[in-house]
Amino acid sequence: MSENNFARGLVWLRNDLRMEDNTALYRAARACDALAAVFIACPETWRSHGDGDNVVAMRLRTLKSLQASLAKKHIPLYFLELSRFAQVPAALQQICGKLEVDALFANAEYPLNEQRRDAAVRDTLKQIRVPVEYCTDRTLIPPGSLTTNSGDGFKVFTPFKRAFIAQHDNSDCGFDPLPAPRSLGPDHGNRWPEWIALAGENNLVRSIPDSVGDYGVAPGGERKVLDWTVGEGAAKKRLEAFSAVIPDYHKQRDFPALEGTSRLSPYLNCGAISVRQCARMALEENGGRWAGSCEGASSWLNEILWREFYQHLVVHFPRVCRNLPFKPETEGVPWANRPSDFERWREGQTGVPIVDAAMRQLNQTGWMHNRLRMVVASFLTKNLLTDWRLGERYFMQQLVDADFAANNGGWQWAASTGTDAAPYFRVFNPYSQSKRFDPDGDFIRRFVPELEDYSNKDIHCPPRDLFRGGSYPVPICDVTQSRKHAIEVFANLKSQESSD
Ligand SMILES: Cc1cc2nc3c(=O)[nH]c(=O)nc-3n(C[C@H](O)[C@H](O)[C@H](O)COP(=O)(O)OP(=O)(O)OC[C@H]3O[C@@H](n4cnc5c(N)ncnc54)[C@H](O)[C@@H]3O)c2cc1C
Repeated sequence: MSENNFARGLVWLRNDLRMEDNTALYRAARACDALAAVFIACPETWRSHGDGDNVVAMRLRTLKSLQASLAKKHIPLYFLELSRFAQVPAALQQICGKLEVDALFANAEYPLNEQRRDAAVRDTLKQIRVPVEYCTDRTLIPPGSLTTNSGDGFKVFTPFKRAFIAQHDNSDCGFDPLPAPRSLGPDHGNRWPEWIALAGENNLVRSIPDSVGDYGVAPGGERKVLDWTVGEGAAKKRLEAFSAVIPDYHKQRDFPALEGTSRLSPYLNCGAISVRQCARMALEENGGRWAGSCEGASSWLNEILWREFYQHLVVHFPRVCRNLPFKPETEGVPWANRPSDFERWREGQTGVPIVDAAMRQLNQTGWMHNRLRMVVASFLTKNLLTDWRLGERYFMQQLVDADFAANNGGWQWAASTGTDAAPYFRVFNPYSQSKRFDPDGDFIRRFVPELEDYSNKDIHCPPRDLFRGGSYPVPICDVTQSRKHAIEVFANLKSQESSD
């Protein structure tokens, strides 16, 4: 479609908030003589999807910075607040009709409700003969394009990765980022005077609000998400800084006290940077290979492929978007779901230092190190036998990088209910993880000041007779016993399954 020329185009921005390497924006600017952009907030639907204050704040603040960049290219950005996705098709129909838009461009999104919304928009705009182009942008390759020999989606990461690399591991591997859109020129507005009138009529506004619906900064105002610098420039700086340390990524990535990972996830999720830009940087370090001679870059590219895997998974197996486990047989797990366990886990008061430090990192900063996400998810679902969906939802509410595909994939992996699941009998021991990945207790001391005076040895599992004045809780469970119990519960499920 974008090979055509259109007098007037509209680009609908979502979680792709950048100028450079934005496929829909680039194509729209090339294909249209006049171009406007729109962002539609749907706070009620966002809430029902579990999006929390942090991820929404990151989105709105990034949008503001993008608006300024678009203005330099004479592309106006309008903001529209609705409540629900269901209202979007009619709103876009009205906007396109009134503005006499000839074509709509957007980057594809993959969770089920987003796909349904986009299909409805396409059908609705067909009625007024406005074609819609959804571009591949959030992933390296279109989900659905990489399948097993029998044409199914991959259920396991390693074969997915092998197949991906077989297709793309050569020095001319593509994924070359696109430039920013062309400038539409200072007289651009004169070619489309109606948009000024339209703005007032349809609740379209030029100023981006700080919050929408019932979203906002939490009482107390100390949401640390506000400390994340936002925008495309900040994301590019972070990528550049990370390119200097990527050779050591494989050695440092598991140690939460170090700045050993990129911390690009909040930017990737709101689209301030593209996955192609990230992959390109690492491929350059790695001689153009996915598995090349730079161990750090190969290891990082492996994580980029985990991201890709989970994005593809929601398209092949939409069941995971319906609040269901990937493995139907695990629907029968008799979760204990004790409210006080969940509350203590959530607040970082379990008495297991590494778990508490991790949960407090999440609550205070809106981000958590990957190793710790695995540790706390295993602890909640196995040692406390709490339904993974409660943890999944809490993460969505807190994370500044909350992404349905990666979060659902991570939780189901930890709970042994998902694709590529950890076998149910492999349960992380939080104390061993703590000793191995925070050997001197530096990370624990940062977030659990009650324990700062304990020795490097004792801090991982403070001896009970050393507990002072009750400032730190006694452990919520015996990890050996609770692990054994979880394994029995899952084993019972297996034996029931084979006797059915
Ligand atoms: C229970 C659980 C929940 C998670 N929830 C989310 C989430 O909501 N949003 C999110 O972006 N990631 C999630 N992850 C994946 C991972 O923890 C984060 O992407 C990572 O910690 C982000 O830090 P980083 O940018 O420094 O990562 P880096 O180590 O620098 O990796 C680079 C990028 O690769 C991707 N990536 C890395 N590890 C993974 C992974 N295991 N799965 C998918 N993508 C990965 C991310 O986009 C990340 O930014 C979750 C993992 C678990 C175990």
